[in-house]
Formats: sequence, C-alpha cells, structure tokens
Amino acid sequence: MITEKISCDEIPTPITRIGLGTWAMGGAMWGGTDDLESIETIQHAVDAGITLIDTAPVYGFGHSEEVVGQALAEGGRRDKTVLATKVALEWADGKVHRNSSPKRIRKEVEDSLRRLRTDRIDIYQIHWPDSSVPIEETAEALLRLQREGKVLALGVSNFSAQQMEAWSSVAPLHTTQPPYNIFEREIESDILPYALEHKLIVLSYGAICRGLLSGKMSRARKFQGDDLRLKDPKFLEPRLSQYLSAADLLAQHAQANYGKSLLAFAIRWILDRGETMAALWGARNPSQLDEVEEAFGWKLSADDYAAVDGILRKTIRDPVGPEFMAPPVR
Ligand code: NAP
Repeated sequence: MITEKISCDEIPTPITRIGLGTWAMGGAMWGGTDDLESIETIQHAVDAGITLIDTAPVYGFGHSEEVVGQALAEGGRRDKTVLATKVALEWADGKVHRNSSPKRIRKEVEDSLRRLRTDRIDIYQIHWPDSSVPIEETAEALLRLQREGKVLALGVSNFSAQQMEAWSSVAPLHTTQPPYNIFEREIESDILPYALEHKLIVLSYGAICRGLLSGKMSRARKFQGDDLRLKDPKFLEPRLSQYLSAADLLAQHAQANYGKSLLAFAIRWILDRGETMAALWGARNPSQLDEVEEAFGWKLSADDYAAVDGILRKTIRDPVGPEFMAPPVR
C-alpha cells in the first residue's frame, strides 16, 4: 500500500510520492522500447497504487503520450491517476527547440488531450524556460487553459527560482520539476529552498540517475543504438568508475543501516528533503517497480545525509550535472 501522498487543491486525486516517468516509453533516446511492455508497466503501476504518471509530447514526438493514453483508457484507470504532461518544446526534422509562445501552447494542449484520450490534464508543465518569450506571457497562457478547465494544476520544469518568482506574479504555480537525485544536486542552492518555502510540489526527475542508483548498474552494461547514456558524461570513464564506487558504498550503507536496497534508499533520500517532495522513476517494465513499496514507511536521519555526503566526497572527483540533456534555445 502506498500511503505517502501529497494533496493539491486543484486535483481530485492525491499524488503518490513516487511517480512513473514515461520518457523511455516514447521509444527514442533510450535504445528502443516495446509498446506492449510499456502499457503493461503503466497499468501495473496504477494497479499497484501509483497515481502520478509523468509524460511529455516530446518523448518520442507524441508516442509516449499515446502509449500513456492507451494504457489509462483501459479499466477506468484514467480516473485513478494524476496525469502530468508538458508543453513548449517544438520539434522539426528530429531537432528539438524551446517555444513557450501562447500560440504554440494553444496548439499543443489540444494535441496532448487527443493523444492522452482525456478531457483534462491534471498537471500541465512548461518543459524548459524559453528566453525568447516573457515568462509572464507564458504563465497567462496556462492560466487561460486552467480557467477553461483543460488543465487543473500549473507547473514548470527546469526553471530557476527567479523564473518561478516571475511566473507567480501573474499565475498560480503548483508544481516544479527539476533534476534531483543523490548525484545531481545543483537545485539545493536556490531552486529547492524556493520550492519548499513556497510549498510547491517538487517532482524530482531522474530520481535514480538513469539507472546509476538502481543498484544494478555495472561496467559490463552495454547501451545500444540511440541510448542517451552512450553520451552521458557520468557513464563515460573516468567518471563511470567513480559513480559506480559511490553507488557501491551507498548500497552498503542502505543495507547495513536499514536492510534496504540502494534504489529504495535513493528514493527515500529525495522524499525526506521535505513533505512536498515526490520522485519520478522511469521504470520500463513491471518488474522494475518491484521495489516501490520498499521506499515507504521509514525515514532517513541527519546522519544518513551526512554519510551520503561523506561517500560522495570520497569517491566522486569529477562531479558533473545533467546539463547535457538541455534542449537548445531558439
Ligand atoms: P531515471 O528514473 O533516473 O532512470 C530510468 C532508467 O533507470 C530506466 O530507463 C531503466 O533503464 C533504469 N531503471 C529503472 N528502474 C530500474 C530498476 N528497478 N532496476 C534497474 N534499473 C532500473 O531517469 P529518467 O527516466 O530520465 O527520469 C524519470 C522521469 O523523469 C522520466 O521518465 C520523465 O518522466 C522525467 N524527466 C523529466 C525531464 C524534464 O526535463 N522535465 C528530464 C528527464 C526526465 P534500463 O532498464 O535501460 O537500465
């Protein structure tokens, strides 16, 4: 039973503090995918009590949203979920760029509603800030959609504290989606304090650092085709060995102190930062969700946070963030 949930006044269904991320299900940038397995994974997640499902139009250029829509249409699952999608990345000839103009948003919302087979999006998020459009104009465009009932809660992703402040001058802001995991902590300087102070729901993405914190990653793992981990600087030597050594020591700490897996510990490490924290976990098959329950019903102490910091200091000599994923500006 997943008992840890977050309430949002705009959304009828409480948000479980673990959400299923569906980027890989789009079929691009993760070495291919199997739609039947994706549908099975989404349905399994909902049946296991996960309410939060996160997708985006750009994931497989509409494909992830279509798969999510198909999975939720069966068995009345749509009404049990908090469906989060995004807007404001445009693509042409396989190339992606940012576009937060009200015109683009107006078009995209209709495309997403159709692909997701729904009449409302529970959490609608600007995927990346677009410096060519004033944030206030973008926020007003989402506010209009909220007033029309097409979207319920408003969110941003990859926004700075200053950009969230600008947004809040014209529209409510309910959620923020930054990268956050034990290895990627850039948000701790100002984005996270801002979010916690303003009681924003934080949908932390890359919660298990693209598998590095799954407890199953090894040097022997080979990535295929277009898998982004072929270019991810954390997965290239000499850094890969450093991150794998850190993962080993973290796994030992989790086992010795709690009898828990590294994956459950890594999720707990995010959740215990604050009561509005949630973790997005990109599972690609039902068995990858086996450890969901293990992440609930216990808490980390201040000593655990200090121990994690000590392990990172000892092992990671060349830290690097997730910047390689940022799409170009226009
Ligand atoms: P993630 O959750 O850190 O890692 C996902 C990968 O970890 C999976 O594709 C899988 O890869 C591996 N994995 C998952 N469960 C596992 C398990 N039990 N055992 C072993 N390996 C396991 O990364 P993510 O998918 O990038 O992030 C999660 C979600 O956040 C995304 O799906 C998306 O919804 C969101 N996101 C948002 C943004 C944004 O800009 N807003 C950016 C990135 C992600 P293999 O099976 O191939 O090993």
